[in-house]
Parts: sequence; structure tokens; C-alpha cells
Amino acid sequence: MKGPDVVVVGGGVIGTAVTYYLAKQGADVLLLERAELGGETSSACDGFVILQSKSPGVHLALALASAELYRGLADELDWDIEYRNCGGLIVIEREEELPAMRTFMAKQQAIGLDVRLLLGDEVRRLEPALAPHIVGATYSPQDSQVNPLQVVLGFAQAARRLGARVRQGVPLQTLRRAGARVSAVVAGGEEIPAGAVVLCTGVFTPELLTPLGVELPLRPRRGQLVVTEPAPPLVHHIFLCARYIAAKYHPELLAAAEDEALRLGVGLALEQTGSGGFLIGSTREFVGWDKRTTPLGIREIVRHATRILPALAQLNAIRTFAGLRPYTPDGLPFLGPVPGWENLYIAAGHEGDGIALAPITGRLMAELILTGRTSFPLTDFAVDRFARGKDQGGQLKVTP
Ligand SMILES: Cc1cc2nc3c(=O)[nH]c(=O)nc-3n(C[C@H](O)[C@H](O)[C@H](O)COP(=O)(O)OP(=O)(O)OC[C@H]3O[C@@H](n4cnc5c(N)ncnc54)[C@H](O)[C@@H]3O)c2cc1C
Repeated sequence: MKGPDVVVVGGGVIGTAVTYYLAKQGADVLLLERAELGGETSSACDGFVILQSKSPGVHLALALASAELYRGLADELDWDIEYRNCGGLIVIEREEELPAMRTFMAKQQAIGLDVRLLLGDEVRRLEPALAPHIVGATYSPQDSQVNPLQVVLGFAQAARRLGARVRQGVPLQTLRRAGARVSAVVAGGEEIPAGAVVLCTGVFTPELLTPLGVELPLRPRRGQLVVTEPAPPLVHHIFLCARYIAAKYHPELLAAAEDEALRLGVGLALEQTGSGGFLIGSTREFVGWDKRTTPLGIREIVRHATRILPALAQLNAIRTFAGLRPYTPDGLPFLGPVPGWENLYIAAGHEGDGIALAPITGRLMAELILTGRTSFPLTDFAVDRFARGKDQGGQLKVTP
């Protein structure tokens, strides 16, 4: 019996993007989601398509390519993903942070990002609600936002229109092996022959690989968020703060900090949503699979946000929630074939950037699986990069 050309496992933003771009290239695709589409990290997050937060280098180059795809995506999918090219600010609270932010910005400019430094009242003219102590901000008009769940649903719906089958409530249980190939997947008790399999299973990817003897340095990193009641328009851009950048890329600097907020990795991520409510984050914590919010985490997020935007103190918080970012030691996702296998691929480990990187991830994985070549080099994202000596605290071991 002939099965689909490709089985995509996981119906988050990455799996639905991969499914859509494969179907767009004419492949016969089956997406298997064990629960419901977007039910895990892709609905427990912000919707920043922010370029300024990306590490200058391949990370930013990939994000720029993805942002370009986002421009026409709502029309292409024929779905309202609530895309808004609103521009973004990384707020700088302390003079001491200025030199590092200038350097970060100069490297981003060299890669082609339109980003500039606004000092003192220049930034308050753009956003009058900012506190008087804010010394400046880097500003990029290229930063945008979307509704992450609508992106998931839009990709899935457009893929279905192109002939893809999307099955929810069907967990992948086992991969059947024939030599160096996956011959079939066992899912929901059914054996389905597969031409190729791509795991887009976010933080859950290691649990599927361990039985194959592959250990992937990918682990959950919790982010807590606060939602406020609706309010009249107060801000016009999306916001991060300079400390967010430190929390994201240098967790080792924060672990020993005396300040409680720093130890929790609190960095501002703030947007006023279409309904008028604020979505305010977030922490960066290694606490295993615990998706609860904590009084301490929420208190520190609120304390930090109200210091930067004092008017927020007038609003009531109406909800809190947390999601698990798929963290990798170098901040880059795993995109490519699993070593030792000819037709098994991974697209996972996008940490706090999966929404922003979903379109380009989908397109490149479709190119790789269907043609063996990609329009953007994937060497830096190789699944076995840690095993090949790039020791950043993680190891990928492949055993026969
Ligand atoms: C607090 C927070 C804020 C964030 N903010 C942003 C942001 O502003 N911008 C941004 O770009 N990114 C952001 N992110 C990161 C982004 O949310 C993630 O990178 C992205 O959602 C990961 O998507 P994914 O599809 O890989 O994983 P998921 O959304 O977790 O999807 C994986 C899917 O696989 C399914 N699955 C697992 N095992 C199996 C199995 N055996 N069989 C079948 N299905 C299976 C799961 O049920 C799940 O639906 C944020 C994350 C957090 C936590």
C-alpha cells in the first residue's frame, strides 16, 4: 500500500508551516497531531515577528527571510493572521547598557536590518507613555506582530485546500525502520507507510528520538505571561528591553544575580493587542515540564513592566499563563536530516522565535525533503552540530 509522500508529526506553528509548503510544492502530505492544532507552545506565546532580537548572523538572516514571507502571507493563505507591521523598540533603561546595544545594532545593520538608536526625548516622542528614566531605545520599522494561533490555523487550512490531510488526536507512537530508512509510522494504533517523516514536535522532540538512540540537546524553557483588561490605546509599537537580550542569550550571567527578576530571566516583551488588553512577558526559566505560573514570576514581570510604562499600574491583570520554549544551547533550531537516517528529518528547537521563523522553516524543509537542496544554507542548523564538536553545553549522541 502506498502511503503519503511525507508524514509531518506535530501540529504547532512549525508543523503546519512545513505541511503547507510541502503541499504547495505538490507533495502528498499527512499531518499528525496528537491533540489539537496549536495546543502547545504555539498558543502559549506572544506573536512578535521581531527582527531586532535575533542574534546578528545566520539567525537574523533567517529571520529577515521569514519576515519577507510574512508580508504576503495573509493573502497567500487567504486567512486573517492579524499581521501588523507596527515597528518595534528595544528599550534601554541604563546608560551602561548603551555600548552593548550600539554594538548589537551595528552588527544587525551590517546584515541589512533597518534599525536605529533613539535617545532620551526622541524615544518619548515616539512613545510618550515611557518612563522618564528610559535613556533610549533601538527602533526598527521592520518589526511586526501576528496572532500565533491564527497563523497555525491559516497554514493548516491552506494546506488542506492544497490536498494535505490533517489529523488531530492521532499520536505518533513508533517509527518502523527498514535499513537506514523509515518505512512506516505507527500512529493512533494504525500503521501508515511513509516516504519521509519530519518531526515538528517542539519541546517533545527528544522523547521521540531517544528510543532511536538519538539524544538531542533540546529542553523546555518556561515563559510566563500576564494579560490585562482592555484599555484605550497607550502604545503603538511592540516592546522588548535590553535586559531581554541578555536573558535570551546569556542565561549563565543571570543565574547568580542578586536581583530576583534577573534570576528568573525576566525581560520585557509587551504588546497592546487588538482588543486593547496588554500581553506582558516574560520569564526564561529551566523548570522541567512545569507549565504553571508562579506568584513570584508574575510579580517580577509586572514590577519590571510598570517601571518602564508606569501607566500600566492602573490596569487590572485578568489572566496569566505559561508556555515552554524549545531551547537549544546555541539559540538556533535543528533543521535537517537525522544522522544515520535517509528520510527522517527534524524541524524543532526554535526557542522564543518559532512564530517569527515558521514561514522560512516551512519553505526550507519542503525544499530539503523534496529536492535535497535548500535556497538558504542549513549547515548552522544541522542536527548533529553539537556532536561534531560545537560544545555549548549540549551533546547529540547517535548510537546504532
Ligand atoms: C512565553 C513565550 C513567548 C513567546 N513569544 C514568541 C514571540 O513573540 N515570537 C516568536 O517568534 N516566538 C515566540 N515564542 C516561541 C514560539 O512560541 C515557539 O518557538 C513555537 O511555538 C514552537 O512551535 P512548534 O511548532 O515547534 O512547537 P509546538 O507549538 O509545541 O507544537 C508541537 C506539536 O507537536 C505535537 N506532538 C508532540 N508529540 C507528538 C506525537 N508523538 N505525535 C503527534 N503530535 C505530537 C504537540 O501536541 C504540539 O502540538 C514564545 C514562546 C513562549 C513560551
